[in-house]
Amino acid sequence: MDVVTVAGVEVDTRHWIGGSRVSSPETFVDVSPIDNQVIAEIHRGGTSEADAAVTAAAAAFTEWSRWSPSERAVVLRRLADLVEENIESLSQLETCDNGSLLRSHRRGVMPRVAMNIRFFADYAVEKLTYPVWETREHENHVSWDPSGPTVIITPWNAPLMLATWRIGPALAAGDTVILKPPEWAPLTASYFADLTKQAGIPDGVFNVVQGFGPEAGAALTSDPRVARICFTGSVPTAKLVAKAAAENLIPCSFELGGKSPTVVLDDADLDLAVDLAIEQYDNAGQVCLAGTRLLVQEGIADAFAKRFAERAAQIQQGDPREEDTQIGPNIHLDHVARIQGFVDRAVSDGATVEYGGRVHHELGPHYFTPTLIRDAALGSEILREEVFGPVLTMQTFTTDEQGLALANGTDYGLAACVVSGNRSRAEDFCKHLVAGTIWVNCFFVRDLGAPFGGSKKSGIGREGGHWSFDFYADVKNTVYAPSGWKE
Ligand code: NAD
Repeated sequence: MDVVTVAGVEVDTRHWIGGSRVSSPETFVDVSPIDNQVIAEIHRGGTSEADAAVTAAAAAFTEWSRWSPSERAVVLRRLADLVEENIESLSQLETCDNGSLLRSHRRGVMPRVAMNIRFFADYAVEKLTYPVWETREHENHVSWDPSGPTVIITPWNAPLMLATWRIGPALAAGDTVILKPPEWAPLTASYFADLTKQAGIPDGVFNVVQGFGPEAGAALTSDPRVARICFTGSVPTAKLVAKAAAENLIPCSFELGGKSPTVVLDDADLDLAVDLAIEQYDNAGQVCLAGTRLLVQEGIADAFAKRFAERAAQIQQGDPREEDTQIGPNIHLDHVARIQGFVDRAVSDGATVEYGGRVHHELGPHYFTPTLIRDAALGSEILREEVFGPVLTMQTFTTDEQGLALANGTDYGLAACVVSGNRSRAEDFCKHLVAGTIWVNCFFVRDLGAPFGGSKKSGIGREGGHWSFDFYADVKNTVYAPSGWKE
């Protein structure tokens, strides 16, 4: 069936190319992590669908790139309005597809999807300017010009939110877009495609090719007509994308994994520190930014551990559609097995599972219990590699210098959370932390105008505000001479 009903919402399972639904000869199954049931058979794209989508995006670029930012903003604002009108359907669909909390989708994530579109549409109209300056009486005029068909590849942990915070600036910049949604949670991308049509976005300006990474994703990233690639996902896949892009010298933006620290200094407010640490279990630990390494200073460590254990024991795990659920399921059985593998290897390496460490079978095979691991040996896998599940580790340190060394001691540098009661001490600590984003006494406060991205293996480039347009647009300088004019 091409159109299926999931959680009461009708959604098309075909691709969206050039303003039409396109079928593939093969499909793949989409399983809900809530109850492990098949919810849809999704059309499985490969080279021919990727080729058709880039062709459509390249054809539509000629016209779309000539629209002014204000003209583009009119339809993009309409799209944002449509997202807002469809928050309930989008939330139901996303929760059924990826298992994240329904209340978060309703109140936070989907309103943010609308904001992603509206913010960048407005930004292109109001803020995308640079002062004119003179060089020996010649004027320099900087502009952000549309760059061309843009491939956006996203993971499953926040599919529509992560996609639209790239689609927003790309379309606002005048690029056309081909989205490759994640194979484990592709449904909201398809629903969103229908909204782009309703909003009046011209055919071919926005396209969706579904399928597996090595098929649809690889075909898109190796197409020489593509002007930009934005990839959000894991480090191993990013290396493949980088190789494909290098063949045609296509600029890439990479938003990758993390192994971020939550650092609790001994002057921290204990309640705040525990609250922030517990937050790292959000979305069943499937958050790239999560500060999964709890680094706690000796003076406060025992009190912290005791309070944290009490709070963790109260975490309500269950059906993500229930209002009081705090942690839902993990996305896929393969992913659950991966999480279990990390925990088992940590134990073999000598670490202790303080609590959790197993699947909560009474809830279903996707529900991995919130887990805390202690006593892991320095340099062991569980302290170095991203688990992307509800698994935290706890280490203690004596001096700030030691805490800093632990915090910076991985190949990643996406984010960090620091809890301290002393501002100048915190400022000093943050100065030497290597991370794209640092939260002090808070977590997950993100402004769309702020730069976002990772240091070290956590990514290449920054997006947000001007940084987004610097990537999605061709930044141009036009120099006007003082003489030579006939009028
Ligand atoms: P993944 O790398 O396996 O897949 C991500 C996307 O890449 C999917 O759509 C997949 O189909 C596609 N893909 C796979 N192989 C490909 C290929 N050869 N060519 C082109 N595309 C290909 O990652 P995942 O497991 O879906 O997501 C989890 C990862 O994403 C974690 O590492 C997480 O930290 C990271 N992530 C990062 C951010 C960020 O902003 N930094 C945000 C969310 C998730």
